[in-house]
Amino acid sequence: MDKIIPYQRQFIDEDDIKAVSEALRSDFLTTGPKVKEFEEKFANHVNSKYAVAFSSGTAALHLACLTAGLKQGDELITSAITFLASANCALYCNAKPVFVDIDLQGLMDIEDVKEKINEKTKVIIPIHYGGMPVNIKELRENFSGIIVEDSCHALGALYNKDKVGNCKYSDMTIFSFHPVKHITTGEGGMITTNNKEIYEKLKVLRNHGIDHDKKPEQEPWATPMYELGFNYRLTDFQCALGISQLNKLDNFIKSARKIAEKYNQELKNNLNIKIIKEKPEQFNSYHLYSILVKNKEIRLKLYNYLRKNNILVQVHYQPIYLQPYYKNLGYKEGTCPKAEDFYNRLLSLPIYPQLSEQDQNFVINKIKGFFEKRENE
Ligand SMILES: *Cc1c(COP(=O)(O)O)cnc(C)c1O
Repeated sequence: MDKIIPYQRQFIDEDDIKAVSEALRSDFLTTGPKVKEFEEKFANHVNSKYAVAFSSGTAALHLACLTAGLKQGDELITSAITFLASANCALYCNAKPVFVDIDLQGLMDIEDVKEKINEKTKVIIPIHYGGMPVNIKELRENFSGIIVEDSCHALGALYNKDKVGNCKYSDMTIFSFHPVKHITTGEGGMITTNNKEIYEKLKVLRNHGIDHDKKPEQEPWATPMYELGFNYRLTDFQCALGISQLNKLDNFIKSARKIAEKYNQELKNNLNIKIIKEKPEQFNSYHLYSILVKNKEIRLKLYNYLRKNNILVQVHYQPIYLQPYYKNLGYKEGTCPKAEDFYNRLLSLPIYPQLSEQDQNFVINKIKGFFEKRENE
């Protein structure tokens, strides 16, 4: 079989192509009407008051930290198991990332968070890992500083029937529109918030720090800059794609959950595999479908075996503090033992809208076959 089955991939249809073409034929290539429309539709979708679009999820995390006032001497708590950007954003602000261990679902362990909160803790970034929502209410009850939800995996997820991104128990929520995420704009990101001050500050920082509202009347040409910002804008044609993608989100989630349900059914009785189940209050939007095997030796063999069969499984993630850069900063192995054990046994299986039933059966049969063969060894 020559067909390649990735762990994730974008879904682009003719409506998306039409939307982008129309935007390209309009008067606006970058900031124009589609940006505002995308932001409004997005905020509406997740039930937040405001949304601000950015050039990437990473840019959004950076400005969320700046807006929180994060600076040298401050600490930012995040999960050991997340993408690099959730911690790098602390370093961008010369603050210190503090890593907490995880629970059985791979989510930030709130007990460990409580132990690591101190007077230097300015920001906490929980991650809705794989699309599984963290108990954000409990986190809020234990921390009165700034909470920034990293929801790059969790567009479409619900906690107690509330949409992730509504910021009921947080100050800001971050989304990414990288092609592997639920909806894509090529590169892109979004912050949702219910706080008007935060909303306005984010818009200024996204555009070099220029505040058009503070223009002196006598100098209508002015671009007054009171603080140092960046160019983190998202283009109009990317926002046109975002709007078109957002229209399909509900279908994307439906198909992801159907695929996950099939994996659950097929793998739950396999003694070699541990699956991650939802709790009744959680509605996982399944950016990832992660399984755990017995140990890292078996994981490596399974990884190589599936890759050899053109099934491009991945591992999400190595604990960030084990990265060479972080080790050089002085972070030590053993900091979060549960995260290290989780990482050693972890594998992300293919889950994306165009994964056909036939392809998923192929993946499942290869996994089952791998373990059957090992039993006969
Ligand atoms: C993808 C991702 C990001 C970064 O998003 P980009 O748009 O790629 O910059 C941040 N955090 C998590 C958890 C992610 O998965």
